[in-house]
Amino acid sequence: AELDTLDMLVLGVILLGSIAYFTKGTLWAKPKNPYASPAFLNGSAGKAGRTRNFVEKMDESGKNCIIFYGSQTGTAEDYASRLAKEGKSRFGLETMVADLEEYDFDAMDTLPSDKIAFFVLATYGEGEPTDNAVEFFEFLNGDDVAFSQGGEESPLSNLNYVAFGLGNNTYEHYNSMVRDVDRLLTKYGAHRIGDAGEGDDGSGTMEEDFLAWKDPMWSALAAHMGLQEREAVYEPVFDIVGREGLTAQSSEVYLGEPNKMHLEGSPRGPFNSHNPYVAPIAESYELFKVKDRNCIHLEVDISGSTLSYTTGDHIAIWPTNAGDEVDRFLRVAGLTDRREQVITVKALEPTAKVPFPTPTTFDAIVRYHLEIGAPVSRQFVSTLAAFAPTEEIKAEMTKLGSDKDYFHDKTGSQLLNIARLLEHVSNGETWDKIPFSAFIEGLNKLQPRYYSISSSSHVQPQKISVTAVVESSAVPGRQDPFRGVTTNYLLALKQKQNGDADPSAFGLTYELSGPRSRYDGIRVPVHVRHSNFKLPSDPAKPIIMIGPGTGVAPFRGFIQERAQQAREGVDVGRTILFFGCRKSTEDFMYESEFEEYKKALGDKFELITAFSRETSQKVYVQHRLKERSAEISDLLSQKAFFYVCGDAANMAREVNTVLTQIIAEGRGVSESKAEEIVKNMRATNQYQEDVW
Ligand code: FAD
Repeated sequence: AELDTLDMLVLGVILLGSIAYFTKGTLWAKPKNPYASPAFLNGSAGKAGRTRNFVEKMDESGKNCIIFYGSQTGTAEDYASRLAKEGKSRFGLETMVADLEEYDFDAMDTLPSDKIAFFVLATYGEGEPTDNAVEFFEFLNGDDVAFSQGGEESPLSNLNYVAFGLGNNTYEHYNSMVRDVDRLLTKYGAHRIGDAGEGDDGSGTMEEDFLAWKDPMWSALAAHMGLQEREAVYEPVFDIVGREGLTAQSSEVYLGEPNKMHLEGSPRGPFNSHNPYVAPIAESYELFKVKDRNCIHLEVDISGSTLSYTTGDHIAIWPTNAGDEVDRFLRVAGLTDRREQVITVKALEPTAKVPFPTPTTFDAIVRYHLEIGAPVSRQFVSTLAAFAPTEEIKAEMTKLGSDKDYFHDKTGSQLLNIARLLEHVSNGETWDKIPFSAFIEGLNKLQPRYYSISSSSHVQPQKISVTAVVESSAVPGRQDPFRGVTTNYLLALKQKQNGDADPSAFGLTYELSGPRSRYDGIRVPVHVRHSNFKLPSDPAKPIIMIGPGTGVAPFRGFIQERAQQAREGVDVGRTILFFGCRKSTEDFMYESEFEEYKKALGDKFELITAFSRETSQKVYVQHRLKERSAEISDLLSQKAFFYVCGDAANMAREVNTVLTQIIAEGRGVSESKAEEIVKNMRATNQYQEDVW
């Protein structure tokens, strides 16, 4: 019988469905992002047929130790590099660092037992893997994991591994990534060497946790692999080659451009964490009414790009280091006179990656690519001791590097960055014996910072707004305050745009026009990161938002959206915002805007404020929440969505506690039952957090 069109259609759909089921979408999965492994990052990345089999890769390059990292902000990547270096210099291991995203893991079972794999894994947000670890985790955590050699009981019985996690104990799923991966690897028969370390950013002990974990780990690994420890001598990973024929004006020299398209002046999408969009800033203004503190509202225009966002997403801002810190760094390193010299940076071994494109200049590297403002690592101080200008300074550096308490005493309270520390220890003498390679190895790549988008994509799809409080804190015994990298850069942009009296953010002199003046017209490089922090799809659902300080950012977007919906005649549910700041007359941001939203939303919208410095007893959002127990409990039983944004360390935790009490009292259940209910609310997205 002939098949009619409908039959064909039905069969077609069934066939497609079956293909989808059996291939799990791999046939038409989106191609891998071409920038995931930019050619400049890896000598062989551009070559066709680069293997995704890490065991093969290790064989090809003669390695016996691979150090994988799952990193979001660069710390895990930095730790991976440090472990690789230490493994090589102390124990003669042939190490390579590897981005989890660049390999497949089905051949994990073929790694011979005389080799070793390290996993350095950050946990992101609500216990999620970092972006570059998603595929790895999905593979390992899948229901039907298939390793290349087939399915015996313990497919990974040959695999020996080392694990360290980077987490934050203020989050519920503390270090869940390393815990889960460790559990799964063990389940498949792999053997862990040493303890699975856990670093805690929440209590500010990440670096010390890492240092305390790694020494016993090295001992255990040395015993297991029969490694002999030798005296560690510094061996550079990168060769710095002067390019005499080129000047900073030559068209092939990178002056801070993140990749080739930007160098050629023709950046195209997709815009992402390897390829920012240099976005015009449509407008910018100050939100605070006090002199000594700043909070900036910026509107970034994405209409000329392929970028899009939805309410609740994050925008990443790519900063430029402050000019005076760049100058200080170059001066301390003895590079001031050579700052414009053109150099190529070459990895001395095939698996090391140069973290920025070259040829470039020292100035561009320090200004656009190295995190020169960050806290200094004690291990890095030890490494640099060998290059001290005098024996006396060397002794001091060695002491700082080896004595934890002394180090924290001397450096912690001062918020010193690397150049300030070196300047301080040497009393201003230059450190021109430090090989530049050591800085590239020892400092992080300058990272974009994330901001919760404070506008609604429904109201302004082409303009993303940012609400950023400027990081600045007085340091006892230091003349100038500590200043955060990105927020002071944004302040300088805002000052330039508005022709403010001090157009350089406290005299920090930023190069605001960017490489080859491509940021002129007031532009800033950005990309968007999609988040799960979302309004209910039904606008009639009630929402309760807790957003003190800049935690109000995404909620301004939420309320902007609901006010617009109300104007359009949509039935909008109760919309309650708990906002807190110091004083109603100082840092009450968006006050008049909220009045406008109130006009549109009427009784549907309520703003409940807590001003901590207006009464003798400090009042915070969690106190106000408690005062409203009955109503909150009632709204939650009507399935209101509950949102918290802002400070992860204290506020979010206390709000969680108060909410548990509200539920216990409101429903007449025990604390532990209420805790269970709150957990369940989180699991079903009725309770969402966007905290940092
Ligand atoms: P940085 O230079 O990164 O410094 C930040 C802090 O690190 C300092 O305050 C200090 O405590 C420490 N530090 C830095 N250098 C040193 C040193 N040398 N010694 C000792 N300590 C040091 N912020 C907002 O204002 N609004 C938002 O909407 C917002 N949303 C966010 C959303 C997400 C998902 C995340 C992860 C963060 C968000 N943040 C937000 C925070 C923001 O990303 C930045 O961390 C913040 O603006 C500070 O950036 P900065 O570059 O100015 O400071």
